[in-house]
Amino acid sequence: MSKSPIPFNPGRFDGALIEPFYSVGLAAVPYRREREKLVRLLRSKHQDNEKAQALADTLEACVKSRRCKSAACAECARASQKLFASTAAAFLAKQKGAGHLVCVSIVPADGRCKPKELAPAYAVRNVRRWKERLGRAGVTWFVGALDYSLNEHDTARYKPHWSEHVYGLTTTTDMDRLKKELRKQFPATEEIPRPVKVKIWDGDPDALAYMLKPNYWRRVATDDGERFTKNGMRSCRATDKQRLRSKERVRLALYLDELGLHGRLVLRWAQFMNRGATASIEERAPKTVGTRIA
Ligand SMILES: [Zn+2]
Repeated sequence: MSKSPIPFNPGRFDGALIEPFYSVGLAAVPYRREREKLVRLLRSKHQDNEKAQALADTLEACVKSRRCKSAACAECARASQKLFASTAAAFLAKQKGAGHLVCVSIVPADGRCKPKELAPAYAVRNVRRWKERLGRAGVTWFVGALDYSLNEHDTARYKPHWSEHVYGLTTTTDMDRLKKELRKQFPATEEIPRPVKVKIWDGDPDALAYMLKPNYWRRVATDDGERFTKNGMRSCRATDKQRLRSKERVRLALYLDELGLHGRLVLRWAQFMNRGATASIEERAPKTVGTRIA
């Protein structure tokens, strides 16, 4: 695997990815097939691409107790999803009573790049910038991850691009204010009319699993969808979820492999810890708070 430039000790997250998090038996089948399918794709259509062949070698060698831990491996990605969801659940259990726990989804306008420009340095820069903006919106701790989609418009009103976006949880005592402040930091654009969504977390574990979901889509927007409103049908924008094309799957896989499983995590005032057999997310609020200057 290539070296990742992420300033985070990947041993903490990848090292905590132990065999009990991996699917077994029938539950493992779809992930194993997905991994094998990607190997076949890399071997058949990308023989001349050294990086693609190296990734195929990595994925082929992923077996029980000797996992590849590549973010492009469906089996390892699925296990990392379970690991992150379970450590997040334990973290959130400790946060109860201090306000509402909310799920936050943000599609930043500056999280888009051309199909060939997806690179780990781009993710590092985005995460740093977006965490600062979360802070300016009044967010204290944030536990979440990056997600990706390939966005297109059915009449090519805009060019196809990768969208890097964030989904995670935080706490607030004032939902409306949080929404307002987040919308100031992540404003709407012509292409992204609703960049910020905030809703109360009802305790559903699926919301935690969604943070590191291991599958990615091509989102095809259309302007002539129809929606039923109290004034009758009105046309609106709609998005159709489709499978990535094979060249897009390969590009994303090479990128994810380089980024690393840990590279998708977005943690603010929180840190992933791995002490031997126990992994946890710990709150790491700065020592100086409020207007006091250190
Ligand atoms: Zn693997």
